[in-house]
Amino acid sequence: MTTSTFPSSSADPELADRLAAVRERVAEAARSAGREPEDLTTIVVTKFHPASLVRALLDLGATEFGENRHQEARDKAAELDGTAARWHFVGQLQGKKARQVRAYADVVHSIDRPSLVDALADPAHPLDVFVQVNLTDDPGRGGVAPAELEALVEHADAAPGLRLLGLMAVAPLDEEPARAFARLRGLADRARSIAPEARFLSAGMSADLEQAVAEGATHLRIGTAITGSRPVAG
Ligand SMILES: *Cc1c(COP(=O)(O)O)cnc(C)c1O
Repeated sequence: MTTSTFPSSSADPELADRLAAVRERVAEAARSAGREPEDLTTIVVTKFHPASLVRALLDLGATEFGENRHQEARDKAAELDGTAARWHFVGQLQGKKARQVRAYADVVHSIDRPSLVDALADPAHPLDVFVQVNLTDDPGRGGVAPAELEALVEHADAAPGLRLLGLMAVAPLDEEPARAFARLRGLADRARSIAPEARFLSAGMSADLEQAVAEGATHLRIGTAITGSRPVAG
């Protein structure tokens, strides 16, 4: 099914309120951490939602959008071509889809292995990337194991056409986010000692953005707190 068959969310009168509330949460988290709200980028994760919701968010001034499935992301990006929307790919990515994702994505947050670096790297197609690190012991959760992080950072930093922005992570379900993000900060310091330009940190979702900002997150990936609950996948 195409995303446009979902009922339109653009008429949702509470969307503006939820966006404003998240912006206030982000600003407050920044102030509490002694940081500038302007230094934080909020990416609205619109997965499972129709392009009409992205349009409504564009009308409210949002420009950064996150998606985690290639086909859905590609269709929405095509539908919103010519708008101010910028696309962040935040899901696990197959090597054979890499070039297609590069065609519409401005940033890929989920670099988790050397072969994906090689599949995305092209000096003719500059791309911003984050290396995703797995903060759990479950290899299925996405991201490179901390033990392999430094080699992957070195590889991504040296890849032609890729600009390594920093690390990305999702807090584990079974650990305090503050503790997990403190560990992430240590890993980010290690990454920066290898690649000094990699100074950004993609962390923090609806439930844990405050803890992420406290530990240095610069790119927040916020879904449900802004969009409302996600439609059931078709
Ligand atoms: C869905 C998703 C988010 C947003 O999650 P919410 O809890 O809805 O804020 C952030 N990051 C990734 C990688 C996601 O897949």
